Amino acid sequence: MSYDKENLFAKILRGEIPCHKVFEDDEVLAFMDIFPQSNGHTLVIPKTDAANLFEIEPEWLARLAVKTQKVAKAVQAALEPDGVRIMQFNGAAAGQTVFHIHFHIIPKWQGEALGKHGGDGRADDAELAALARTIAEKL
Ligand code: AMP
Repeated sequence: MSYDKENLFAKILRGEIPCHKVFEDDEVLAFMDIFPQSNGHTLVIPKTDAANLFEIEPEWLARLAVKTQKVAKAVQAALEPDGVRIMQFNGAAAGQTVFHIHFHIIPKWQGEALGKHGGDGRADDAELAALARTIAEKL
């Protein structure tokens, strides 16, 4: 698959589309998923052009994994879920909808079902902004 520089996350990286930022450095950007599968659903994307797991350079994948762990720890500390699901999709058939590689960090509470992947409603912006701040404080 060739990388499309007009994909949604490329636009977010360029600042053309806003996001509720949790963390940013020269390697990654982490921000709130606006169609969250649970409270605190966060995305981590690398600052390199790669559509999926097969295309990303191993060194970049390693950096992305380390930063995903860092952000997941902050999600855990901020929201104290019973568990955290890390997800990553490759190809439309696997459920991928945005073709810039990303990890999902999805807090999970016992007895609470997750929302549908990309399918439930858009979250309230004020709530997402507050969540982003709460998580960022734990970084
Ligand atoms: P995937 O389906 O694995 O490619 O994940 C893409 C994710 O991006 C989904 O969970 C969507 O809810 C999420 N999403 C779509 N549009 C936006 C947006 N503008 N800002 C943040 N997250 C988004």
